[in-house]
Amino acid sequence: RDEHERFDRKIEAMGVRIKDADAVKVRDDVFDEVTLLALYKLVHKKLITVIGGPISTGKEANVFYGERDGRGLAIKIYRIQTANFKAMTEYLAGDRRFSSVRGTRKGLIFAWTKKEFSNLARAHDAGIPAPEPLAFDRNILLMEFLGRDEVPYPQIRNAEVEDYGKVYREILGYVERLYREARLVHADLSEYNILYHEKPYLIDMGQAVTLDHPRASVFLVRDIKNLNRYFSRYCDVVDEEEIIGTLVGT
Ligand code: ADP
Ligand code: MN
Repeated sequence: RDEHERFDRKIEAMGVRIKDADAVKVRDDVFDEVTLLALYKLVHKKLITVIGGPISTGKEANVFYGERDGRGLAIKIYRIQTANFKAMTEYLAGDRRFSSVRGTRKGLIFAWTKKEFSNLARAHDAGIPAPEPLAFDRNILLMEFLGRDEVPYPQIRNAEVEDYGKVYREILGYVERLYREARLVHADLSEYNILYHEKPYLIDMGQAVTLDHPRASVFLVRDIKNLNRYFSRYCDVVDEEEIIGTLVGT
């Protein structure tokens, strides 16, 4: 209660409009002091003009709807007190871009947020349908909202897909472009991290690693296996070894 009121007062003091006052009253562990400060900076820079309700509560992050001058935003907030931060270390340590990150909890979460920003930027630059990253501060990532009327596009597991074979090949194409052009492996590819509306979109790239990561090829195999496991229920899939062979062998 008190925590909620304190949060609302602080947000209001930032001069940002709260669209859905009840929905935005979230768990105390999301809006700690660090997060409020980061949010404040993003609001102050006018990168966020409206904060809406929660879209998702995941293992490590909460996603909120937001707007900047009428344009939809996804505001992804990594919780500092996340349960999973040990697992994050492995993805960071092997990636040369982030191997020097200090081992404090906060430091890791901030690096993770920056890593997701960079990964989305690389994917986006490679022309892969994925949210355009807009800004980050500490543990908050701002990105393009993929959805309509404040409702996110469904995860592919909940979407109505007409031609699974076509969508499967599109996603394989994304994985290939991610590998060849962005030089990344997604490393958590599944029916949960693909949104679908007319075409598939890849999301959730915090854990994606560069190809020089010692486990990049392990992650790649796991991604392809996941993809094939899911799509084999609906359409013919390409043999896993064949996919890897074409990717890695060229
Ligand atoms: P987590 O690490 O919690 O799995 P995700 O990045 O997968 O976080 O996001 C969780 C959910 O939030 C997604 O399934 C989707 O519903 C929503 N979401 C995330 N990013 C966006 C976005 N850019 N646009 C719309 N919805 C999003
Ligand atoms: Mn996810």
